[in-house]
Amino acid sequence: MNTKAGNLLIISAPSGAGKTSLVHGVVKRMQNIAASISHTTRPRRPGETDGVDYFFITEPEFEKMIQEGEFLEYAQVFGNLYGTSRTQIDRILDTGIDLLVELDWQGARSIRDIYPDTVSIFVMPPSEKALRERLVARRMDQKEIIQQRMQAAMSEISHYREYEFLVINDDFERALQELCLIVGASRLKTASQRKSLRQILDRMASEDSV
Ligand code: 5GP
Repeated sequence: MNTKAGNLLIISAPSGAGKTSLVHGVVKRMQNIAASISHTTRPRRPGETDGVDYFFITEPEFEKMIQEGEFLEYAQVFGNLYGTSRTQIDRILDTGIDLLVELDWQGARSIRDIYPDTVSIFVMPPSEKALRERLVARRMDQKEIIQQRMQAAMSEISHYREYEFLVINDDFERALQELCLIVGASRLKTASQRKSLRQILDRMASEDSV
């Protein structure tokens, strides 16, 4: 067992629920945690930076990475491909740093199958109305795309029961505090502490049984 292995936390939400800002907030506020950067074939939006928000790649490049087994999981979302790099995740977790991975419900299922200890969090917008307003306020997408995203959002929301934790993002600061609490609690899980404290814990447990 790698005694330094960090915890893997997956976070899903419909687009417009504020998940990305929350993830950035947690990484800023807490120590020893990073956010993974996915690969996507989706065009870059204004304000997004390659290698920061996503690795923006072409479809042939994405296909090549699939062939080479580079993705831990990948899925098609709104007609674009999104994937989580196996190397990136393993490299970060091996250094003992916790990792927050943003993905949709399909990706969340795949990751949970591979890493059963994964902590899963769903971020919910406060209402359908608020979600629509946020999608429109972004003004990044055309009207039909917003409609499509609205439908996709409702379908994403239908999977919320598959997650261990639920955060309602009606107040950003409170939602951020709740996410930080979840990260903190995941570090206190027995399985998580056993990675670094195994010897001490085993010794105490055996003394107790004498
Ligand atoms: P957006 O284009 O709005 O940034 O993201 C669209 C959707 O793709 C979101 O639900 C987001 O969670 C999901 N997504 C982002 N990265 C990944 C990934 O690596 N794998 C999967 N399966 N979904 C992802």
